[in-house]
Amino acid sequence: MNFNILLLDKNKKYIPPLQYIFNFALIKFEPLKVKERLKSDDLLRLIADTKHIMLTGHVNPDGDSIGSLVGVGKYLQELGKDVSAVVPNRFPDYLGFLDPENEILIYSENPDRVRETVARADLIICLDFNGLKRIEQLGELIGRSPVPKVLIDHHPQPENLFALVFSETEVSSTCELAYRIFKNLAPGEKISLESGRAFYTGMMTDTNNFANSVWPSTFRMAAELLELGVDKEDIQSRVLWSFAEGRMRLMGYMLHENMKIFPQYRAGLMILTKEMKERFGYEDGDSEGFVNLPLGIREVEVSALFTESDDFIRVSLRSKGDISVNRLSRLYFNGGGHERAAGGKLYIPVSEVEEYFKKSVGEFMGKEK
Ligand code: 5GP
Ligand code: MN
Repeated sequence: MNFNILLLDKNKKYIPPLQYIFNFALIKFEPLKVKERLKSDDLLRLIADTKHIMLTGHVNPDGDSIGSLVGVGKYLQELGKDVSAVVPNRFPDYLGFLDPENEILIYSENPDRVRETVARADLIICLDFNGLKRIEQLGELIGRSPVPKVLIDHHPQPENLFALVFSETEVSSTCELAYRIFKNLAPGEKISLESGRAFYTGMMTDTNNFANSVWPSTFRMAAELLELGVDKEDIQSRVLWSFAEGRMRLMGYMLHENMKIFPQYRAGLMILTKEMKERFGYEDGDSEGFVNLPLGIREVEVSALFTESDDFIRVSLRSKGDISVNRLSRLYFNGGGHERAAGGKLYIPVSEVEEYFKKSVGEFMGKEK
């Protein structure tokens, strides 16, 4: 691999090649702004000085989380780096095609291996989350590690603990931001088909199949990845068309029997209990997309899905127009997220959720008007 020869002198010090210094003038699409170029130089320097890089994604990993881990991970491996990817807990089976060798380490299932990995890492790159709380106990381990940490993320309000922050909210996904950074990072190094496929998966899932949070750069990236040879039909069929019958029946039930609309608050609500999960043979990921459904109703501007689990109620929020569910979540649901897609947790019995939602969304929408 000529990457190291290009970038390091005999003493393993980084020397920017002339070609690299002028390289940004040659970039055709999405040229990096000068500030981003300088940050990319810093990232390249950090990477050049390291052997073992640990990548980490957020709890309940989704397509953007796994897509960015795999996309960045494969890229760095091709640069000759020893790379480990870690997530706090399991991810849904339909994302398994991105990790066919089961290389992604799962902290809740293999804490010892993860501890060793953190101890061995000389650089940690955090993808698709904005603070250590989003990786739960894994955050304590990483917080104690003295090595530099890099953030690549598209959520607002990033925590102040990173040596280097790539935080951009006007992109579809972390995959889009990561693709933009890495495709311009090292001269002569191309994004591989494997990385491209992972990045495509993340941008497709985070945009709800190119419906929300879509920017001109999103479509340009999609076009570039299709030109690279990414098979979008294959990804769609694995991610969008591979659910069990039970999920469709559950969706029907949620819409017909469970959804409540509160026109006075311009709000919609669904509550998925443990009993319902059991009844419909619920598998991880089966409720993906449910929270968007009430937004299809003309009057509904904010939608919530509450999912009961053993320890707490998971909160999922979506909005349209100018309603900030990031703020709603921070104020009432112990969470955060994007302006129009956020989440959090509640520690109350499931029987009290409806009242709590009505009270909080009532207050909130009163203020928002
Ligand atoms: P989802 O509804 O798909 O689980 O999450 C939507 C968005 O909210 C995601 O971007 C996710 O990062 C964010 N989010 C979900 N749960 C939490 C949480 O507990 N805390 C924070 N800060 N963000 C969350
Ligand atoms: Mn994301």
